[in-house]
Amino acid sequence: MTVLLATRSEGKLRELRPLFAAAGFAVQDLREAGAVETTDEDAVEAFDTFERNALAKARYFHALTGRAVVADDSGLEVAVLGGAPGVRSKRWSGRSDLAGQVLDDANNAKLLERLRDVADPVAQYVCAAAWCDAGGELVIRGETSGRIVREPRGVEGFGYDPYFLSDELGATFGESSREAKERVSHRGRAFRALLERIAATR
Ligand code: IMP
Repeated sequence: MTVLLATRSEGKLRELRPLFAAAGFAVQDLREAGAVETTDEDAVEAFDTFERNALAKARYFHALTGRAVVADDSGLEVAVLGGAPGVRSKRWSGRSDLAGQVLDDANNAKLLERLRDVADPVAQYVCAAAWCDAGGELVIRGETSGRIVREPRGVEGFGYDPYFLSDELGATFGESSREAKERVSHRGRAFRALLERIAATR
């Protein structure tokens, strides 16, 4: 069975492919599956929890393709900002005209601006990993804790990673190899647990 990975994020795909390979699942992303991006697709993630958004995305693409689908909804929660940017992490800057690295730069600039007067802000990354196929659905959450640093460190990862100092690694995710990040990350935790559960029921 080839699982459809319902994401267009190159950063997420780079991290997800090895996790699926290690669990023995063959995957295709949306581009490989020929699923053309539509405005409906963006409107699917309209909820205020990662779990509801991930499930909505998995259900949407399962209904569209009839295939087994996995989806990820994830983001950064900063305690002193009341959990922002949270489920709005990707579009936090309000720059819907941007994508890729320039969008990440705009989001990071807003993060630093909002934290200008805060010493050592505590944060966590959250990921909800969802599965949907004809046999049912499942969603599992993964978290990882850290702090936000003022100067970017490293060029690995994507998004907020150069500013996220992992408690467990003692380095930013921008300074960490894909393998090191995967061991402790919100996405590694959520997807390892999800794939174990799916494999146990097959
Ligand atoms: P989503 O595509 O709606 O799930 O939004 C995810 C957004 O959260 C990304 O665009 C990043 O801004 C942020 N994010 C989630 N996971 C990570 C990560 O592992 N590293 C850096 N940023 C992340």
